[in-house]
Amino acid sequence: MARRAIFPMQDSCPSPARLILDRNALVSNWEALARISGGAATGAAIKADGYGLGAADILRILYDAGCRDFYVAHWQEAAPLLPLLQDASLSVLNGVMPQDMANPHLHHPAVKPVLNSMAQAERWARAGGERCDLMVDTGMNRLGLSMADIADPLLQKLDIDVCMSHLASADEDVPQNEVQLDNFRAVRSAIKAGRYSLANSAGIALGRDYHFDLTRPGLSLYGGVPRAEMREHIKAVATIDTMVLQVRDLKAGDMVGYNAMFTADRVMRIAILSLGYADGYLRNFTGSGMLLHKNSELPVLGRISMDLIAADISASPDLQEGDRVLCAYDLMHYAAATGLSQYELLTNLAERFERVWV
Ligand SMILES: *Cc1c(COP(=O)(O)O)cnc(C)c1O
Repeated sequence: MARRAIFPMQDSCPSPARLILDRNALVSNWEALARISGGAATGAAIKADGYGLGAADILRILYDAGCRDFYVAHWQEAAPLLPLLQDASLSVLNGVMPQDMANPHLHHPAVKPVLNSMAQAERWARAGGERCDLMVDTGMNRLGLSMADIADPLLQKLDIDVCMSHLASADEDVPQNEVQLDNFRAVRSAIKAGRYSLANSAGIALGRDYHFDLTRPGLSLYGGVPRAEMREHIKAVATIDTMVLQVRDLKAGDMVGYNAMFTADRVMRIAILSLGYADGYLRNFTGSGMLLHKNSELPVLGRISMDLIAADISASPDLQEGDRVLCAYDLMHYAAATGLSQYELLTNLAERFERVWV
């Protein structure tokens, strides 16, 4: 299949730290989520620069896979994506504030604001009431009209494509999910719209009742597993690839890194690699970090610096300056080890990485 070039960051001097992004895994995840979504269409949340992996590339790849409904949070995120949309649509989740009304892209035919309050609905109706999406809060108390607003006659004047709500706890088995589902059914009876949408990634796994016309996964497209039963369907998308900058031999008693958090208890060989918390490889990973070289596991040692880490390469003693080493960025493992969410683990990945789609 003919492909457009999507390696805008590559230049003549490759970066020491790369994010290897697996196009087939991304497509496979979207297709798996679409399959589980049954008859519902399946969109893609690409806010926060595609959860840190690159919104433009993800949009292109998922468009080719058949995705036509994309979501960002801000108008600023929408602008660079507009030339890529073709016949797809892009919804701006955070709505239209007064200052957004002057945004040059407000009336772009492929872009829809997601109206989140009656004030926004009035603002949008006054500006012509073109095609838009509408968010109703069914129990999360985040963005959206309240249930008390859903009979407001003003809503009849809007051209609502997707009427949506968002689940607060779809990653857990709690009564709140069914409460939100019941509320959303009431929303569907009250508000006329082209399509109805409730489920994020975890909501897709809650079953058919939650799918309506359109599902909106984000996290699981990128390898996140919010519910254990999704694990078999979701593949890792991002792998960190970094470079050995130096190899050192330690003797028993030698200390490694800031604050001497690691002391060698024997003779050992370590490598210093180009990866650190400024890349999103956070200090929280101290003690749980693991690199891979061929089939050897190389534990990360001591404190993570801004741009550097140390790893025990006893299992791969032939590693040399300039060799490349991988870090399987297992979101479930690191979430369990660090207390960070899988979402944060993705969005923390810094722009400094060279992103390479393979
Ligand atoms: C971020 C977001 C999504 C995607 O959620 P995931 O949990 O990442 O699948 C869907 N809908 C809305 C309104 C969102 O803000």
